[in-house]
Parts: sequence; C-alpha cells; structure tokens
Amino acid sequence: MTSINAHNRQPDWRGHMLRRFGLLAAFLIAFVTALVGSGAPVDERLRMIRDNFRSHDASGQIAIVEIDARSLKSISDWPWPRRVHADMIDKLRAAGARTIAFDVDFSATTNAADDAALAAALARSEGAVVLPTFRQPVSEGSDVFTENMPIETLRAHAFLGSVNVQPDADGQLRHYNYGTVTAGVPRPSIAAHLADSRGNIGKQFRIDTALDPATIPRASAIDVLNGKAHHLRGKAVLVGATAIEMGDRYVVPGHGVLPGVVVQALAAETLVLGTANPDAGPWPALFVTALLLTLGLRMRRFAAFATVTAILLLAGPLVLEMVNVGSFQIIPAFSMLAFDALAVGSLVLRRKLSEGRLTDAATGLPNARALERACRVQPDVAMMVVRIPQFDEITTVLSEADRALLMTQIINRLSVGFPQAQIHAIESGILGWTDSEPVEQDQATAACALFRAPIALADRAVLISPVFGVSQGEGRNAAYLLARAKIAAKQAQAAGHRWAFESTTLSNEADRSIAIIADIETAIANNDIHVVYQAKWDVAGGRVAGAEALVRWHHSVFGPLSPDEFIPVLESNGQMQRLTLAIVDICIDQMAKWHNDGHELGIAINVSAALLDDAEFIRALSTRLEVLGDSARYFTLEVTESATIGSAKSAVAALTKFRSFGARVSIDDYGTGQATLAYLKSFPTDEIKIDKSFVTNMLDSNGDQIVVRSTIELAHELGFKVVAEGVEDVACLNRLKEFNCDTVQGWVIGKPVKAEAFIEAVTKPAISLAA
Ligand code: C2E
Ligand code: CA
Ligand code: CA
Repeated sequence: MTSINAHNRQPDWRGHMLRRFGLLAAFLIAFVTALVGSGAPVDERLRMIRDNFRSHDASGQIAIVEIDARSLKSISDWPWPRRVHADMIDKLRAAGARTIAFDVDFSATTNAADDAALAAALARSEGAVVLPTFRQPVSEGSDVFTENMPIETLRAHAFLGSVNVQPDADGQLRHYNYGTVTAGVPRPSIAAHLADSRGNIGKQFRIDTALDPATIPRASAIDVLNGKAHHLRGKAVLVGATAIEMGDRYVVPGHGVLPGVVVQALAAETLVLGTANPDAGPWPALFVTALLLTLGLRMRRFAAFATVTAILLLAGPLVLEMVNVGSFQIIPAFSMLAFDALAVGSLVLRRKLSEGRLTDAATGLPNARALERACRVQPDVAMMVVRIPQFDEITTVLSEADRALLMTQIINRLSVGFPQAQIHAIESGILGWTDSEPVEQDQATAACALFRAPIALADRAVLISPVFGVSQGEGRNAAYLLARAKIAAKQAQAAGHRWAFESTTLSNEADRSIAIIADIETAIANNDIHVVYQAKWDVAGGRVAGAEALVRWHHSVFGPLSPDEFIPVLESNGQMQRLTLAIVDICIDQMAKWHNDGHELGIAINVSAALLDDAEFIRALSTRLEVLGDSARYFTLEVTESATIGSAKSAVAALTKFRSFGARVSIDDYGTGQATLAYLKSFPTDEIKIDKSFVTNMLDSNGDQIVVRSTIELAHELGFKVVAEGVEDVACLNRLKEFNCDTVQGWVIGKPVKAEAFIEAVTKPAISLAA
C-alpha cells in the first residue's frame, strides 16, 4: 500500500499541551528525586562501575609499614613497648624514608623508660615524624567529642595529624579530611602530611576509589625492625596495624573492608595523584538535561535526541573522572529523560492510534472521519465529492501496483483543478474534500475536463469519467454536507450528468435521508435511540425463551422513525457499526439485569450484512462476546439471508468467530432470498427464521403452508432450529405446533415493547393463551 498524500497536519493542540505537561511532570519527578537524594545509591553504584573501568595504580610514593600478624607473632606483647616504635623510627630514618607517620595510639603514658626512648627517637628524627590525633567521645555514648593527642613528651618532637574518618549513613567510607581544627589550632590530617598537602583544613575530599589499594607498596613491621627497609627510601611511610585482630576497619566502596591504615594511605595517594574528583551532586546534570529537553520540545527526532542526551549523561562523569576534574550524579537527570521519553512514547502511540482511525487502509489517504474532524477544527463552506463510476469493477482487474498508480493519477489530476484540496478517501471509489470558498459551476466543468484523457497504467490505459457532487452552505455539520454532496453526485450520475450542486437536485426524501445520516451520531450520544424487545416463544417448553431486540429512534424533528426507513439509509452509508454496537451494549446490560432477577432469557440482535465485512466491528463484537464468557450463549445474531450470498467468505469467518465465543447465529427473513437450506448447511448457522411473508397468512395459502412445513422438516434434518416470525393468531400458532416448529414470534405472543413491559408480560400468565 503506498501512501499517496500526506495527512492534513492539523495543529494538534491537545498533543502540544500533553507534550509540555509530560515534560513538566518529568522535571518535577526528577527534581524531587534530586532533592530527596533517592537516586544517590544508584549513582554510587554507577560510580563503582566507572571506577572499575578506570582502575589505576598508586604512585608508589607512599608506603605502608604493616603491623601484621607476622609482626605481632614476633613481638607478642601488644601494645608494643614504645621502644619498638623508637627502633622503627631509627630504622626508617636509616633507610631514608622521607616522612614517617604513625597510625598508632600514643595518647596514654606507658612505662617511663619506653616513653622516653620514643621521645628520644622522635627528637633524633628532626621533626620528620607525624603522630596521630583522633576524635573520641569524652565518655562512652556521649555526643561531646574531644581530640585525643599523644602525650606531652612525644608531642614535643613530632607533627600531629588527625586520623579521623566519618563513614556515610550507609556505613561506607567515602570522604576524608584535609585536616581538623583542634582547640583553635588547624592541623593537617595524616594523609595530608604524607602527601605534603597544605591548606583546605576543615574541608573534606573524596577518596579515590578507582585507586587499587593493592598497588600501594607495603612492608611488614617486623622486616623493617630487622633492617629490611631499603626499598622505602624516599617514600612517605605510614605505620599502622593491618592484622585482623586489631579492629579499626572500614568499608570502602568497591574494596570491601579495609584496615584504617590502608584507608589513610588511600586518602594520601588521592592527594598525591590529585584524583579526588569531587562530586558536584545531581543539580548540574539535571539543569543541563532540563535545558536540553526544553530545547528538544521542538525537535522532530526525539529518539535520536534522547539517545544523544543519554550518552552525554552516561559519558559525562566518566570523562570528567578520567581527566580528574570531578564528577556528578546523573540519576535524577536520567529519570527526567526516561519519564519524558515515556511521555513522548505514549503521545506517539496516541497519535498513531488516532491516525489509524483516521486513515483509509486501502489508499493511505485520510478518511471520512478525518474529513469530519477537519471540518470541526475549521468549518468550511463547500464540500466536494468525486464519484468514480464502476470503480470496483475497474480496480478488481488491476494489479495492486496499478491500483495505487491509478489512485495517484486521479489525485494528481484533481490537484491540478483544486490545488488547495486535501483529498480524503470517503469510501471505495469516492473521494472528497472541503473548500473554504464557494465552488463555482465552471470549476466543476473544468475539473471534469481533467479526465478527458485516459490514465496510463503499467500495461494499459483506463478512461474514467468521475462525477462531481457539491454541497455548500454554512451552519450545517460536516456529516450533513458530506451526505448531501454524496447524494448530489449519485443523482448526477443517475441522470447522466458530470456534476451536480445539491441545492438544485435534492428531493424531500433525500433530505430525510440526509438528516438520518447527519444526525445518527448525535442521536446515539443523546439516547434518542432505544431498544424494544419482542418475545420468542419456545413451543415445546411453553414459555418465553428470549427476545429479539429491535431498534427505535425518536428523531428530534421527524418524530419516531421506522427502522425500515433509517436502517437501509445507514447501511448504504456505512454507518451501522456504531449503532449496532450501541444496541449490543444496551442488550448486554439488559440481559445481565434479567439474569440477575432470575429470568433466564436470551436476546437476539440484528446484524447488517455489511458489518460482517467490517474488521473493526468484528473485533469490537468479539471482545464483547469474549468478556461475556459463558453468557455469550444467550446471544443470537440475526443475519439476513442475503448476507450468506454476497461476500460469503468474510461472513463465514466472522460468524465462525462469533460462534467460537458461544454466540448463536440465526438466518433472518429466510425464504425471501436466494439461499437454499442445502447451501446453508455449509454456513455457520444454528437457526433458520422463516420470513413473516410466508407465516402470517399461512392458513389462507396452501402454497405458503407447504413452504413452511417443508422448510421446518428439512431444516430439522439438517440440524437447525426453526423460528417462525409474524405469527398473529392462535390458529396459526397451533398449526406451527403441528409442524413441530421450535420457536414462534409475533403479535400473538407479544408486540415489541420496552424492557419493563416485556418482563411484565413474561411473568404474567397472559401468554398461556398460546399454549
Ligand atoms: P426483522 O428483523 O424481520 O424484525 C421483525 C419485524 O417484524 C419488526 O419490525 C417487528 O416489529 C415486526 N413484527 C413482529 N411481529 C410481527 C407480526 O406478528 N406481524 C407483523 N406484520 N410484523 C411483526 P420492525 O421493528 O419495524 O423492524 C423492521 C426491520 O428493521 C427488522 O426486521 C430488521 O430488519 C430491522 N431492524 C430492526 N432493528 C434492527 C437493528 O437493531 N439492527 C438491524 N441491523 N436491523 C434492525
Ligand atoms: Ca430480525
Ligand atoms: Ca425477519
């Protein structure tokens, strides 16, 4: 199928509003996410993934001297006597270590000789040693903290550096201090000392978790004490416990549990390498994304645009981290993008659905519904319709490609005559459009001239002689104008003319038809349509087994309209779908009510033949039957005999489908058409309804009686139930009983009445006169 003409792009204000509303909602969601910080855990996870990706080694300038299990085994009295630490300092100095720092508690005095030995070692090392201070609650459980310092004698010859760390609320340690101010004295942290970093005291930085702690050089304390420390030359050395039994452990993202001393070393390395990459939080990304999406409102290719934004968001922090500039959180921005994409997606779906409803499947042109909608947006004064005589006959012999080509050529020619026209496919062989200017008669004549030459197709040429119908005038709705234009074209064709303007050709009868066509939608909406029920009498059971639903329309101008008048008009105008579905819905409700009240009644609904070819109707009715489930078997669909002949293939498919849900099929008006019972044998049928023209006066006509009797017999042989309709008196009823007719329907049982009266009649014994 080739789409011949682009749709009339009506500005879709609702779509525009929804689009903006969707973006605003996405922004609010993202804003709240950022404010509450609910995206932070995911952002931390992403950061770990990025860390893995850009994992790197330590500088090697900082080394750890581990008080490990082996060292503790060699010197077993813990805490180690301070002369051991004094020895350590001497050994490290001798080995040429640059800075020596201890992550060991020196805040209490031990025996005087040991304390003095350490003080002496500190003095010898000329101030190159850093001792730790750490925050502690003044008493256990207190919120008042005090900074614990090494004892006076040690403090005198050493630098002091804090080792305080504060894990985040989730227990993970991410940040570290440049230094702390204790009692008004600013003091760099141990890590800052080791990295020779000054300043920023009181501030924090982020530990570089992409740094692999395993690459920090280590030496065992006992080896250093035994003089094996030469590889520590020139390095800043941190002495601390790594043995498990020493406690002092922290959970660091991506690295699990690390000993405090390793954390201090990691922090120091972060400063040495300058890889702290401070986290700017969610706002920068959110701001930029909001800006991009607002700019993107006007962009057509949202998918590409959103993908680029997503890639920017994902790659942004990685790039910044790789060049060690910083980092930012992306989850709130991402949620904004995702919600906006969701909003756009649902809008696209909404448009697709409505376009589908407004497009003619065969040509890809907008359909009659689209034309009516276009008129609602902008009322036009003239409606033009082109009828192509014998269109179906011409196109059935053409290939699909030729059919499309023919349509294109027709539209091209029409576009020459009516360059402004947005052409709609009204129905097979009928095109239409509106014009905001009144159409002149010579325009129509000129348009006819456009078709003087045959249309060349792939291997043949076809000559078509389209007929134009025009209706104009303000104040009437599009459906009305369209119906009048169609009738004008039809009448022009019948009269052998090439065009007609409705005002000169329309009769009274046509006016009523037009009113029917134009008003049906409103009538359904306004409940001017209602349903009456006529009893179906089960002869053997001697009871009312169900009802046939018959439509009634009280027209606002014409008063009550007979279905015999309006149904054929609606059928020929392809408008039975909505009406029938409305009736089905009414009947479904009615049946549920009856069943609830204990009346086990079935309902028969009349279905026009053309609807069995209407995929949308078939789908809609199937859905309803499916929802009914077990109750679907109380539904009978009456189709006229003619439906079984014309487009029999699709009718068979549709009825088979309805029956698969449990509904019954009845052949209405049997005997008035061409179908034989033998033919119906291969048709999905449960019931034959003998037309009232054979039944009503059966007793006066031997011929009719023979038809009725033999029909009943043969139908039974073929396995069908039989209904006789139009039974007006008891004598006729008794004769049908003798013929073994299964069901009778007619005035003798009851006239079509409203639901309340119907149920009254069912429960009253009045009907027993028929028994
Ligand atoms: P039908 O389906 O053959 O409906 C039976 C018609 O015969 C009804 O006319 C009913 O009122 C009438 N009738 C019932 N008993 C007797 C009787 O004993 N004697 C006589 N002389 N007539 C009787 P109604 O309601 O005017 O309907 C006319 C036709 O309109 C229906 O013929 C049916 O073809 C069509 N129709 C009615 N409602 C619907 C509907 O909802 N959908 C469709 N597609 N067609 C409908
Ligand atoms: Ca019927
Ligand atoms: Ca009938």
